[in-house]
Amino acid sequence: MKPSFFDLTHGELKDLLKENGFSPFGATQIFDWVYKKWVFDPLEWSNVSKGAKEFLNTNYDMSLLKIVWNGLSKDGTRKFLVKMIDGQTVETVAIPARERLTLCVSSQVGCAVGCTFCHTATQGLKRHLKPGEVVGQYIAIQDWLNKNVGPEEKLTNIVYMGQGEPLHNYENMKKATQIFMQENGLNLGQRRITLSTSGLVPAIEKLAIDFPPVNIAISLHSARNDVRTELMPINKVYDLERLFTAIKQIPLKAHRRITYEYLLAADMNDTQEDVDALAKLLNPKESKINLIPFNEFPGSKYKRPSEAKIMWFLDQMIKRGFTCTIRTTKGSDILAACGQLKSEFEKVNLWKKDSGPVVIPSIASSALQNQTPR
Ligand code: SAH
Ligand code: SF4
Repeated sequence: MKPSFFDLTHGELKDLLKENGFSPFGATQIFDWVYKKWVFDPLEWSNVSKGAKEFLNTNYDMSLLKIVWNGLSKDGTRKFLVKMIDGQTVETVAIPARERLTLCVSSQVGCAVGCTFCHTATQGLKRHLKPGEVVGQYIAIQDWLNKNVGPEEKLTNIVYMGQGEPLHNYENMKKATQIFMQENGLNLGQRRITLSTSGLVPAIEKLAIDFPPVNIAISLHSARNDVRTELMPINKVYDLERLFTAIKQIPLKAHRRITYEYLLAADMNDTQEDVDALAKLLNPKESKINLIPFNEFPGSKYKRPSEAKIMWFLDQMIKRGFTCTIRTTKGSDILAACGQLKSEFEKVNLWKKDSGPVVIPSIASSALQNQTPR
């Protein structure tokens, strides 16, 4: 199997060209064709030397990840299932909000962390994604948008909040982030990228040392060790004390404020005791709280709290001086719970018919407006 072109940083491409007797300056022209002009066929790169083009064409895989299903939600959220070269699939979601179009990318096929509220956890960990498969989600979706909606539909932000625990796949996510931020390429600023983690302490400790300084979101979900352990078994190993010792090492100047994601599940972590513990644990000047009402899926063991309870929780945090927001559920009519689409898709095993979009029986047909601009 040929290595993917999308695994290469600009520096690596320069070295590769040089080692093989071509001008290293070709790397800038090539990155321009691929990441700025969206031309993926080396033979069309008119200002690149014939030898360099042929070398890449022969030795590197330029193919994009294949979109095997896509759906458009009534709220404008687009969900995609992308297939990799070995046939594994992951979900990628494009979420419009104000002037932004944020892509929520996956970092692994499945996940090993095993949070008890998460649909992806039921799939276990199949494998890590390579850097080119993470960058590849962005390229495949932007290419799809260019062709099916219009070039004005530009992805502007990325969140590592799809399937998988990004810090469990540290080196590959680090490299993918470097590629996203490359000045000669996609040139995404550090403020446009957000990494979300369940709290893998040894990796959080490394962030300050060698990870590009992107925004950090911590999936906290409870400020009480016993409750957090029930929601997230990782808390048995890296409890709140260890987690916060590691978080304090993240240089705040670069990251500004840390976002704490707080899933709200009825009668689980939405009581007065939970509010008090959260307000005690976090510092309002250094934190932002993002409440995520639990997204129910068939067989899930938790329930979403009532709207009144969600608003009460929000109000309690605001009264205590916190910047607190509610993440509205996006794309609920297209299986928005993380990992749900992939599972449903595999259950009916429709990807074999990947010649075009397929209809998943449990998705309301109104949500399926494939290939239709919004
Ligand atoms: N593994 C990373 C990133 C992917 S999950 C992490 O856990 O942070 C992205 C976010 O979705 C996390 O905050 C996660 O806790 C949340 N999430 C997962 N399943 C959910 C569900 N059923 N309802 C609401 N939020 C969920
Ligand atoms: Fe993995 Fe995140 Fe799901 Fe937990 S919430 S199982 S860390 S993807």
